[in-house]
Amino acid sequence: MAKMRAAQITKAGGPFEIVEREIPEPSAGHVRIKVQACGICHSDSLVKEGQWPGLKYPRVPGHEVVGNVDAVGAGVVQWKPGQRVGVGWHGGHCGYCENCRRGQFFGCTEALKITGISFDGGYAEYMIAPAIAMALMPEELSPVEGAPLMCAGITTYNALRNSGARAGDLVAVLGLGGLGHLGVQYASKMGFKTVGIARGKDKEVLAQKLGAQHYIDSQTQDPSAELQKLGGAKVIIATVTNGEAMSAVQAGLGINGTLVVIGAAESLRVSPVLLIMGSRSIKGWYSGTAIDSQDTLRFSVLSGVRSMNEVFALEKVTDAYERMMSGKARFRVVLTTGL
Ligand SMILES: [Zn+2]
Ligand SMILES: [Zn+2]
Repeated sequence: MAKMRAAQITKAGGPFEIVEREIPEPSAGHVRIKVQACGICHSDSLVKEGQWPGLKYPRVPGHEVVGNVDAVGAGVVQWKPGQRVGVGWHGGHCGYCENCRRGQFFGCTEALKITGISFDGGYAEYMIAPAIAMALMPEELSPVEGAPLMCAGITTYNALRNSGARAGDLVAVLGLGGLGHLGVQYASKMGFKTVGIARGKDKEVLAQKLGAQHYIDSQTQDPSAELQKLGGAKVIIATVTNGEAMSAVQAGLGINGTLVVIGAAESLRVSPVLLIMGSRSIKGWYSGTAIDSQDTLRFSVLSGVRSMNEVFALEKVTDAYERMMSGKARFRVVLTTGL
């Protein structure tokens, strides 16, 4: 039996263990991927710390996967060995529950699968993925370039393109981290008048380099007042995980403006009067399904949007994970297998 290396967690709060496993065979409807790169996302801490209800160990995390199709199971007609693919957070759905029948696959009530949580993910040399969960990877993107787009990329791109903002509208991106540095690029390339909001004067150059027309330093300026000076935002995408920071920007929304929340903060203070008086709204956005990922990848090639990454070899997973958790990485952390 051929073997592979995988980085697994065996209990909540336990360390990463690099283990040898047999290379798995794809069952019906599944595909085996020879993994080249896998991004480390903050949500991988759900596996590391055991914060996902019903999670079964041992588990290999990782839902920003890029690799080559290596073998296909029975009944898979759309993929063949040698194709380069990506796998993201959305790992599958039933297709027959009411939400699926309405095309709302993320709301599947019967068989919603999350990559690296419901089944083993991409911190390994090989993984098995449902055929339904894969996106075609354009050849213009290297494995390291493609990986972060499978979660951070799709989440910001898909939230922006479904936000209701139209070309020329004022769109603000709150936070300039892993999600935000992509959000500013996508917003700019989509033709929005783009505002970056972050803490500290030093991020201004970065925001401009990423395509922002304006930068607001939330440490020294009132972000809501500054947005109102620019006419009020049609959309603010909140990528931070700090509820206070989100609350501080809501009054920067223009009439009919929307605060789109994609950062998992614990709580958020909302002013009902502000919502009522300006017919404003607050909504969340779920990343998307495999075809949304494919759209994200294509748009990234078309427009030149790329993630800035720090790269670690798979065996350095502990260092790589700690680097991501430190919040100091610029901006996404990616593991490579050397395959
Ligand atoms: Zn993620
Ligand atoms: Zn369903």
